[in-house]
Amino acid sequence: MNRTIIIIIIVFALGFYFGGTNMLDNPKKCFPTVDYTKYNGVYFGNGIFACKSEETCLHELGHAVDEFMDFPSHTQEFADVLDSFCEIEAHPACELPGINSNPLAGWGGYTEAYAEVYKYWKLWGHLPKELSSFYGVVYAD
Ligand SMILES: [Zn+2]
Repeated sequence: MNRTIIIIIIVFALGFYFGGTNMLDNPKKCFPTVDYTKYNGVYFGNGIFACKSEETCLHELGHAVDEFMDFPSHTQEFADVLDSFCEIEAHPACELPGINSNPLAGWGGYTEAYAEVYKYWKLWGHLPKELSSFYGVVYAD
């Protein structure tokens, strides 16, 4: 078997693993038509993303975690907890447009903040305790 065929099978298997039967119903979910070369990172869904640096890859991986956790970033609870956290702590996610009363200007909002908190968790090795449950992490007291 030549190398190209092996790579195609691996890509197909990964797409099937992450996309399930969605990939067969809608091949665009596995082979997106978005021109991702224009972006530093883009999340396609079903755990599939493209990224150009460690930081953007961690950000996109944060979107995958959000999806696998059934989108806690879309809940009012996450928005409320993040806003409360931002009132007492300084964190880059708190500076995003649309967070903690910052005006929303294009990119931003709680879904992006979720991905940013994930990114800084992996870069700094620390996930704020207040936010940990939204990432499936429980700290012992
Ligand atoms: Zn993002």
